[in-house]
Amino acid sequence: MTTTARFVPISKLPEVGTTIFSVMSSLAAEHQAVNLGQGFPDFACDPALPAKVAQAMADNFNQYPPMPGMPQLREQIAAKIQAVYGHQYDANTEITVTAGATQGIMTILLACVHAGDEVIVIEPAYDSYVASIKLAGGIPVFVSMELGPEGYTIPWDKVKARITGKTRLLMLNSPHNPTGSIFSATDISTLTDIVRDTQVLIASDEVYEHMVYDGQRHESLSRHPELAERSFIISSFGKTYHVTGWKVGYVAAPAALMAEFRKVHQYNVFTVNTPMQLGLAHYMQDPAPYLTLAGFYQKKRDLFRAGLANSKLRLLPCAGTYFQSVDYSAVSNKSELDFARWLTTDIGVAAIPVSAFYQQGQESGIVRFCFAKQDATLEHALQRLQKL
Ligand code: PMP
Repeated sequence: MTTTARFVPISKLPEVGTTIFSVMSSLAAEHQAVNLGQGFPDFACDPALPAKVAQAMADNFNQYPPMPGMPQLREQIAAKIQAVYGHQYDANTEITVTAGATQGIMTILLACVHAGDEVIVIEPAYDSYVASIKLAGGIPVFVSMELGPEGYTIPWDKVKARITGKTRLLMLNSPHNPTGSIFSATDISTLTDIVRDTQVLIASDEVYEHMVYDGQRHESLSRHPELAERSFIISSFGKTYHVTGWKVGYVAAPAALMAEFRKVHQYNVFTVNTPMQLGLAHYMQDPAPYLTLAGFYQKKRDLFRAGLANSKLRLLPCAGTYFQSVDYSAVSNKSELDFARWLTTDIGVAAIPVSAFYQQGQESGIVRFCFAKQDATLEHALQRLQKL
């Protein structure tokens, strides 16, 4: 028997329902499809990492850590950013450990966006951005990426045109989920010119920072002093160390920005669990795991792309992330959602419609696969996809 709820809050996010990731994952389970939908590895992390966490717990590091995170971990993060991108953040005042990148993003928006402020979002966009902007009382202003022979690019002239006196913040993401595109040096210089005479802040979601392929470099905004001085840099250990379920990440920003960030952080999460921070701090002393990650994933990307090279699915460029998008217009004229469902139920491989990354559900005939999977899983999926 169902009862009618007597107390229903007025929704702050009336248009939000179950996410496409949950929908596709349960459809995949129901139909025993190979799940290349949601972005997480199906292989184990390095056992040395949980061993270090277990050691920290056994050593009784089980009480609250300092609000911004364990100093050992913040120092390792600062040292990594200095070594890889050449920017020295102060571990005491400029780095905060977060409960995953998602909490970092939400906290940035809550700290910076006042009611009625505009935040520019590039679509397709990771799904937490718009909800977080709205919960902060902000107004998302959209600019769509353009799809050409080189893949997806940001039309910076349109970004420039959308900047007004009300623009508080620009949300950026490179390497980009879902398109696999990355910022080029030209993107960076154009962006620098666009924001130079404005007060616009930047939230730079760099959770895939260590997955950039073909010898290209990740253009972290921290590399570029003129951008770094107005930017929050966001990253996630979940992506880098194959532990998405741990939900530990960090935000780095100049001290004045970080001070405001921490005012919100101390009340919306206060801090992040101690033993995982200590385990990560020990593990990070060796740079090899993050320095070799691009090579590891590039092999998987190449295996997956080679398997689809002769299929009717047209491969879009994939310069970074663990996502490969394909244009399926030679196979079907179904909508992206219908195609992704059909692929799951009839072909046995789950994918995510790229339309789910747009507020208005733009249709381009493209779906996204995640290749952060064991080679055997990818080969199994390829056998099924090659039937197309
Ligand atoms: N940003 C992007 C672009 C992502 O793809 C994801 C994870 N799917 C996140 C943020 C969230 O990372 P975390 O799990 O650390 O919150």
